[in-house]
Amino acid sequence: MSQAIKDQIRAAALELGFARCGFARPTRPPHADFVELWVEEGNAAGMAYLGKRLGRRLDPTNVLKTVRSIITLSNRYAPPPLPPHDWRESLRGRIAAYALGGDYHKAIGPRLAQLARQIEMLTPGSRALWYIDTGAILEREWASLGGIGWFGKNTNILRRDDGSWFFLGEIFTSLDLEPDAPVADHCGTCTRCLDSCPTGALAPGYKLDARRCISYWTIEHRGAIPLEMRPLLGNWIFGCDECQEVCPWNDDHKPPEAAASPLLPYLPDLLALDDAAFEATYRDTSLWRTKRDGLLRNVAIALGNSGNPGAVPALGTALRSDASPLVRLHSAWALGVLGTSAARTALDRALVSEADDNVLNEIHDALAGGPTSKSN
Ligand code: SF4
Ligand code: SF4
Repeated sequence: MSQAIKDQIRAAALELGFARCGFARPTRPPHADFVELWVEEGNAAGMAYLGKRLGRRLDPTNVLKTVRSIITLSNRYAPPPLPPHDWRESLRGRIAAYALGGDYHKAIGPRLAQLARQIEMLTPGSRALWYIDTGAILEREWASLGGIGWFGKNTNILRRDDGSWFFLGEIFTSLDLEPDAPVADHCGTCTRCLDSCPTGALAPGYKLDARRCISYWTIEHRGAIPLEMRPLLGNWIFGCDECQEVCPWNDDHKPPEAAASPLLPYLPDLLALDDAAFEATYRDTSLWRTKRDGLLRNVAIALGNSGNPGAVPALGTALRSDASPLVRLHSAWALGVLGTSAARTALDRALVSEADDNVLNEIHDALAGGPTSKSN
């Protein structure tokens, strides 16, 4: 197929606001064996769906029988604001930068759909299917094969001139297009992301263990967060950007100052959100994924991690009156960590009215393990 068709597709993609557009052959992905082993070893944690449709992920013809090329696209988003100097004092949580603004599926999907339509019109009879984190697709594999960037040790796709603050999207097409050359790996001897991951989720060999990743626990996991993970979450309440923030290839893509940003919300206010307020604030954003109870679970943990006695009133109210046992349970844990006399009073009072066995157990543990010498 002529270079002219590729040029037209690339020009149309840039016109639609995509930063890069690359072309890959739909062969068995180079990391297919790695992916199979990664799933087999349990690294996908509770994301069982990652292992269920492996045949589809590893063979693009199971997605589109007539596929001859995969078009891979990047779409930039703003890097995160610098975090506040002392989040414990200001009680500010952190939200991963990609979540700022509307849900990216809704923002990027229509443009991918339009590009797919334009591609089909270029060559009548051809097929084009688009994806934005919506199907059983190994997005990073096609992005690295198609020259969008290299697969970094932090498991993101990186580019020397773009860093890693971008979304990926793909179009599977029946057009036979010349593939682009992959980009060389420029991680070199750097290990900054491995060294700075707060939970040790990154291992040598470009490997992420979701069982230890803050993004997994705060976004994907439903239910209680394991005790040993809670202190490691710090003030991350939705996702985590730390392994991208430290990457030297993102140095040129940092905002100059810490603006008052919705990515650094005041935690006590979040813990007071009821269903209606949560829906009004987050219905059309990525945070909708956790649902209200999941987000407030994370907020309670962050308040406990703050070590700030100023968090006690909000946690005490949540423990006493929140309708969700999940939120009450993590509020009890946080009060136990804070361990002030006011925190213990709030825990004692909740013992009288609490009816949920799991929450009661957490309250007893908090009272038994919390330090008693602090006062507020
Ligand atoms: Fe570690 Fe956070 Fe990166 Fe997960 S997102 S690997 S927890 S630094
Ligand atoms: Fe690669 Fe270093 Fe960036 Fe990690 S921090 S992805 S090792 S360049």
